[in-house]
Amino acid sequence: MTTDQTFVIVGASLAGAKAAETLRQEGFDGRVVLVGAEDERPYERPPLSKDYLRGEVGREKVYVHDEAFYAEHDIELRLGRTAETLDASGRELELDDGERLRYDRLLLATGAEPRRLSIPGAELDGVLYLRSVQDSDGLRARLDRGGAVVVVGAGWIGAEVAASARQRGLEVTVLEPLAVPLERVLGGEVGAIYRDIHIDHGVHMQVATGVEAFEGDKTVERVRTSDGRELECDFAVVGIGVQPRTALAARAGLAVDNGVLVDEHLQTSVPGVFAAGDVANAQHPFYGDRIRIEHWANALNQGPAAARNMLGRSAAYERLPYFFSDQYEVGMEYSGFARASDRVLLRGDPAAREFIAFWISEDRVVAGMNVNVWDVTEAIQRLIRERVEVDERRLADPDVPLEELAPVEGGSVA
Ligand SMILES: Cc1cc2nc3c(=O)[nH]c(=O)nc-3n(C[C@H](O)[C@H](O)[C@H](O)COP(=O)(O)OP(=O)(O)OC[C@H]3O[C@@H](n4cnc5c(N)ncnc54)[C@H](O)[C@@H]3O)c2cc1C
Repeated sequence: MTTDQTFVIVGASLAGAKAAETLRQEGFDGRVVLVGAEDERPYERPPLSKDYLRGEVGREKVYVHDEAFYAEHDIELRLGRTAETLDASGRELELDDGERLRYDRLLLATGAEPRRLSIPGAELDGVLYLRSVQDSDGLRARLDRGGAVVVVGAGWIGAEVAASARQRGLEVTVLEPLAVPLERVLGGEVGAIYRDIHIDHGVHMQVATGVEAFEGDKTVERVRTSDGRELECDFAVVGIGVQPRTALAARAGLAVDNGVLVDEHLQTSVPGVFAAGDVANAQHPFYGDRIRIEHWANALNQGPAAARNMLGRSAAYERLPYFFSDQYEVGMEYSGFARASDRVLLRGDPAAREFIAFWISEDRVVAGMNVNVWDVTEAIQRLIRERVEVDERRLADPDVPLEELAPVEGGSVA
């Protein structure tokens, strides 16, 4: 494809980098500009709360591509630069240093940022958040010094930071306002399994407990809880979720509602402007609804899908939601999307931390999470996608291969 067109991507992280790579793979030979507010070239965030945070792997392990990749593929990197203004009708973007970029197609891959606490003491030194590699470096330096940490919030980031801090030998207290960790995603029953995993590893798990204030002289020294206790600490980590970075899109008049709204081709309300990754609230053909996913696999796959649509290939994005987490020796993968009202069915042995949890709605599997059980994602996703009416007795029986329950293309349902 020989063209003098310019495609601009805002957000030089996983979704943006994979989109740029795909444009070249698909033969686009126009100008590709990748604008990123961070000084680093695109990197992956999952290691930042796991092996990278613990100091087990170095910086070179986190990058999406090696340093030479961008020049080799003629991808113009604008790092440490923020896109400030988008003129959607004039098809022009202005960066913080005044550079103006005219584009033919634009991809917004601006991701998400941590929600911040606004309580007394929130600005004290030692009250930390984790999103960037610099955040992870700062946190790792704290882990190196040892001591006691209070983790506020037992979502995925909080749970993984707690696990890494315990693995590094720190005294760890987790404060979680809900009844169990990860309750919003996993519900009470499966969340309780994760609570026990952390307790078994020596975490002081304080559920149904919020945080009222951080206290200390310049640096946080203690955390005051909603039930009136004071917990001494050397530092605190706040993991209370993220919010999509929509400001640029909103200022430009694009439709925004819990993310940048996109159709199943990842196109925003303005033709020629696309969005992908954590920032995109995308119409999903399987669910018949919009869904915004804050996970690695979504950024990895939506970036390329958006790139193909920018090239006019008209490819609907229909992958099922998927994510993974590692805490201590417990690894998991989760596929699909469950609601709090969905029933849970367990297969295997939760006490041995080797099981699959299925979420069932109207006799069909809507989500599945395999914990220390591997090579089952395909079968789980097939059960969900094919909306197989399941025999629960067989589904719960680890001796019945999942492949027998999930129809393969052209095959029949066992
Ligand atoms: C510590 C941590 C651990 C994680 N672990 C897991 C895990 O185990 N499993 C899993 O599935 N997911 C995990 N995730 C989530 C996963 O990393 C995200 O889903 C993924 O990073 C989303 O990628 P993205 O490219 O959409 O956005 P982001 O990674 O958020 O990147 C967006 C980029 O855009 C830049 N940007 C924003 N606005 C502008 C602008 N106006 N101009 C220029 N640049 C801009 C930002 O600076 C940022 O670099 C983890 C996330 C974190 C933080």
